[in-house]
Amino acid sequence: MSDPEYDFVVIGGGSGGYAGVSLAAHLGLKAAIVEGARDMGGLCILRGCMPSKTLIQSANRFMTLRRAREYGLRAENISVHGEEIIERKRRLIDDFAGHRRKQLESGRFDLVRGWGRFVDSHTLEVHGQNPTRLRAKAFLIATGSSLKIVDIPGLKETGFLDSDTVLESSHIPRSVIMLGAGPIALEFAHYYSALGSEVTIVQRGGQVLRDMDGDVAMAASDALIARGVRLFLGTTLSRVEKSPPASASSFSTKAPSAPSKPRRSSTASVVSRISNASPSKPPA
Ligand SMILES: Cc1cc2nc3c(=O)[nH]c(=O)nc-3n(C[C@H](O)[C@H](O)[C@H](O)COP(=O)(O)OP(=O)(O)OC[C@H]3O[C@@H](n4cnc5c(N)ncnc54)[C@H](O)[C@@H]3O)c2cc1C
Repeated sequence: MSDPEYDFVVIGGGSGGYAGVSLAAHLGLKAAIVEGARDMGGLCILRGCMPSKTLIQSANRFMTLRRAREYGLRAENISVHGEEIIERKRRLIDDFAGHRRKQLESGRFDLVRGWGRFVDSHTLEVHGQNPTRLRAKAFLIATGSSLKIVDIPGLKETGFLDSDTVLESSHIPRSVIMLGAGPIALEFAHYYSALGSEVTIVQRGGQVLRDMDGDVAMAASDALIARGVRLFLGTTLSRVEKSPPASASSFSTKAPSAPSKPRRSSTASVVSRISNASPSKPPA
């Protein structure tokens, strides 16, 4: 049997891929989307925008309750239940992911399950339960990104959280160091500081949110500092190590403005991603 022929094939069933294949079908093209992961939905729904916002919403409510007295209200004995925050996130994400699954299975285009790999510029081999080949006039590579763990001496041995594990972790650490100050790191800094963790941000560049205008970055920094977040800019994390008590780690830095002696924290968090745009193998 000859390989199926399409006008347009999208590789990757995340938000980008779904938007692409939907538009192609809407325009009357014969289209297909290829998705390799067991759980469909992509980063935004499963481990990105949506779960992080459910956590942030819990943090925001807690912050408001903590300030009740300022507004002439009393909210006594309030406390944080990490397991319930994560349980709420799971419920909402299952719901969103179910909705996306239905959209992908709507029949307006073909959904092909498996990992795509180019054979030539018009042929894609799909490795999955039912291996197949698809031919298309045009392809959209929407394969997203994978976590990138930075190579800092001692980090692996000490242990750390990344954006996937924060979203699954019901433990609210006593203190946490954020490595980097991009939007995701700042979201998590907000989340943990609102729930009562002592948060320190270590950022190599001279401002938080490095792609933003300086005045926006300054407003974000001021707001975090006003909340008690410690911010070290122009600072490179040079090593991390476990030191007593057993759950603590300390970091040393290379920067004139940085602390001269190692600082301690119970958890380090690292958030960095790298593109999957070479779809020759499944993402890590
Ligand atoms: C914690 C966090 C919070 C975020 N918050 C926001 C936010 O508030 N606002 C915002 O705009 N963005 C946010 N983002 C970023 C956003 O999630 C991503 O930009 C977006 O999800 C990328 O979508 P995508 O479709 O390009 O890739 P993905 O969603 O990663 O989809 C790629 C898909 O391709 C599949 N795939 C990969 N290789 C192959 C292959 N060879 N064959 C078949 N399938 C393959 C993968 O399984 C995956 O399902 C956040 C990210 C994180 C981590």
